[in-house]
Amino acid sequence: MPSQQAQKILQRVFGYESFRGNQQAIVDQVVGGGDALVLMPTGGGKSLCYQIPALVREGTGVVVSPLIALMQDQVDALLELGVRAAFLNSTQDWQQAREVERAFLAGELDLLYVAPERLLTDRCMQLLERGRIALFAIDEAHCVSQWGHDFRPEYLGLSCLHERWPEVPRIALTATATAETRGEIVQRLALDEAQHFVSSFDRPNIRYRIVEKNDVRRQLLKLIQEEHSGDAGIVYCLSRARVEDTAAFLCTQGIRALPYHAGLSAAVRSDHQSRFLREDGVVMVATIAFGMGIDKPDVRFVAHIDMPKSVEGYYQETGRAGRDGLPATAWLAYGLQDVVQQRRMIDESPGDEVFRRRQAAQLEAMLGLCETVECRRTRLLAYFGQSAGACGNCDTCLEPPQSWDGTVAAQKVLSAVYRLWRERGQRFGAGHIVDILRGKQTERVSQYGHDTLSVFGVGSDLSEQAWRGVLRQLLAQGLLTVDHEGYGTLALTEASRAVLKGERTLMLRRESERAARKSAARES
Ligand code: ADP
Repeated sequence: MPSQQAQKILQRVFGYESFRGNQQAIVDQVVGGGDALVLMPTGGGKSLCYQIPALVREGTGVVVSPLIALMQDQVDALLELGVRAAFLNSTQDWQQAREVERAFLAGELDLLYVAPERLLTDRCMQLLERGRIALFAIDEAHCVSQWGHDFRPEYLGLSCLHERWPEVPRIALTATATAETRGEIVQRLALDEAQHFVSSFDRPNIRYRIVEKNDVRRQLLKLIQEEHSGDAGIVYCLSRARVEDTAAFLCTQGIRALPYHAGLSAAVRSDHQSRFLREDGVVMVATIAFGMGIDKPDVRFVAHIDMPKSVEGYYQETGRAGRDGLPATAWLAYGLQDVVQQRRMIDESPGDEVFRRRQAAQLEAMLGLCETVECRRTRLLAYFGQSAGACGNCDTCLEPPQSWDGTVAAQKVLSAVYRLWRERGQRFGAGHIVDILRGKQTERVSQYGHDTLSVFGVGSDLSEQAWRGVLRQLLAQGLLTVDHEGYGTLALTEASRAVLKGERTLMLRRESERAARKSAARES
């Protein structure tokens, strides 16, 4: 019985007692020669889903993976278990590659890892034609999606596997799970016949927290020192410069931080990655270039000091925390500037209108998660089409945010923007608008004579922080927009009118009491 054989391999080769979640059903499907689409969160155990069928079926399991840097580690781990594995990629010299090819043709390999660009070469295709293939596993299958940040054009070529080897089962695996991405994978990889296996995306041991940004370095430092001292963690930043600055800052504070981004040499990146994996308590400060395929079970926190561009990205990145199942923190600091900056980046992006609209929709969803007064986990899972009740392990469950009627405050902001434009033909960024509302006599206010505007000083009842919160939420809700000139100045939208005219009440999220007190103390 193939099922018993799989069970035996699980125990004897891999040393595990039993299958987890959907693993058994997936293994059965592929062993039986059927196609499978596997959606399983990071750490769920995707590898066994193709490794075991490759051992049960005759021939070699060919694994397509974009993660060249990790192939050596994966193969070494398999060799240690006695599985005959090898890889083909650009890090090898000609002779090493020849030896792997020979072993494959001689039927001496259980698993062969290949980079997609390598697989699609004539030489490799001809090699595969001459050997015996047990299955094709397409790892990180979401790389086929043109809308995601991991898009790899070579993945589009992988539909040829089905054309050339229609009888060989294929299994596509990913931890990225929106219905949209799933549809794209099915269509682009010609997986119409595949059975879908969708696991729960909940990661109950991760505590989600999204805080308002005020002095982000200090906030980050406090998080590390007070809650994660000596822990391994990842800090995600949007730009390389910010990675460098933040890593240097943490080092001056006695934290073992290392930078990682695509601008560093391959040698430095690989050194930092292996230190992060092997040493205890290293904090990796990185762009999103870091992390795919990283299997470090005891990452205790993932911190974002800039807002990710999409919920999928956020989920992927935070998913690297707590793979061992023990409590872990996903912490994100976000503020007005994140919203302004990302709206601007979308406007300036070189893509066409469809691309931009898609990015804007992704940003909206991310903003929705940041501003929600509901359970974060409920919201996150809903994004992936899964329903769940309040979790009791996120900030909104633990310290429910309050909402307040922000209609009048919103009207003040909108009319300030409106008057500047109507009466003066001017547009300004958020900081200056807040100064006008609070009646602050800055140099710029005097220079433009903005103290004579009727809205000058109408908002002295709220703190600067509170006003920034109002502006941020107006931007998040599309009641204000960043105009298209690229300077981050603010403009009204179609939807603003209803609020200005008093036809719509606006409930806003109030920052937590503690944060409000702190910001008040800072200002006094
Ligand atoms: P993914 O690729 O989905 O992120 P992996 O395949 O790397 O996950 O597996 C994550 C961890 O779980 C690995 O350390 C793996 O050895 C372990 N694992 C997978 N399946 C089982 C199982 N059935 N029983 C125990 N541990 C498992």
